[in-house]
Amino acid sequence: MSSALVFFSHVSTVPSKAQRELLTLASRFENPTVAIASVPGEEALKVFGSYGIATVLQAENPQASFGTHELSVLDAALQHTDADLVLLENDSFSRELGARIAVRRNAAIVTDVIDVSADLIATKDELAGGYSASVKSATGVLIATVKPNSIEDAPLDCQDSVEVKNLELAAPLVPAVSIVAADQKEASDRPALSEARIVVAGGRGVDGDFSAVEDLADALGAAIGASRAATDAGWISHDAQIGQTGVTVSPQLYISAGISGAIQQKAGMQTSKFIVAVNKDMDAPVFEIADLGIVGDLAKVLPQAAAEIRRR
Ligand code: FAD
Repeated sequence: MSSALVFFSHVSTVPSKAQRELLTLASRFENPTVAIASVPGEEALKVFGSYGIATVLQAENPQASFGTHELSVLDAALQHTDADLVLLENDSFSRELGARIAVRRNAAIVTDVIDVSADLIATKDELAGGYSASVKSATGVLIATVKPNSIEDAPLDCQDSVEVKNLELAAPLVPAVSIVAADQKEASDRPALSEARIVVAGGRGVDGDFSAVEDLADALGAAIGASRAATDAGWISHDAQIGQTGVTVSPQLYISAGISGAIQQKAGMQTSKFIVAVNKDMDAPVFEIADLGIVGDLAKVLPQAAAEIRRR
């Protein structure tokens, strides 16, 4: 049977929901191991144990630049294990990391994965879930970035002790020329997008100004999402993109503002429990899947909603 290595850059006090989904998937394989580019706390180690993780390989280097350290840790962890499956989160950083390690190791990378079978066939959604593709690596290790909300979080009925090993790192894997355009993400008090119970998302209709979306999100304690039109325009980070080529969300409440509802956007949010759409065009496709549709200008509707929520 194949063995799996899960890689995390960092784990908060306890692993996030998306990280626990990766642990669940890893627990279906032999020798599930975690490699981590920082030092996890006791609570996190306990959670790892509840998924049958026997070994954690760790290495911290506050001096190393963001990205190069993670690459060194994952490379060293692969040398240390006989893993034939590497599981990564599906954010843009992890996808890039996966691609870089795939080049180094002549391995295959598959993104947007929703499952991996025991014989290492990765399943991924294609064309906004219109059909799915089964992908098998022709060259050794399979590197899979797994979409949040694809795997049901299911710890095992066990509390195994976890052995923590410090990885010996070779010289940092620094490319000959590297330009870091942006370092760490800005800290935010807002919930993580893929785990939030409420998401407020803005599209091209915000016309470059996300303040009304942000204000409503803060009134509701929600995460902020966006359509690709908004992220491509540079109005908000690509990490906020929801849809076929972005994050998949499934919150209790999804508020879509100034988003037309293209199939690629729906692919990332249509399983939300309650969808509110604000759009000034009453024929916008988003209204086909909305539980509550508001035809109007988001610049007027959103501030009214935020004021009313704060008043109550
Ligand atoms: P538009 O389609 O331009 O819609 C803007 C909407 O805002 C309109 O309905 C308009 O009526 C409304 N509006 C304008 N002003 C206001 C106002 N003041 N108040 C209220 N409403 C207003 N898209 C994604 O979102 N996520 C993806 O992951 C994604 N992946 C893709 C992958 C591929 C391979 C391809 C080809 C496309 C992908 N797209 C994705 C792009 C997608 O097809 C759409 O182009 C995109 O979702 C449109 O974004 P939008 O709805 O914000 O913009």
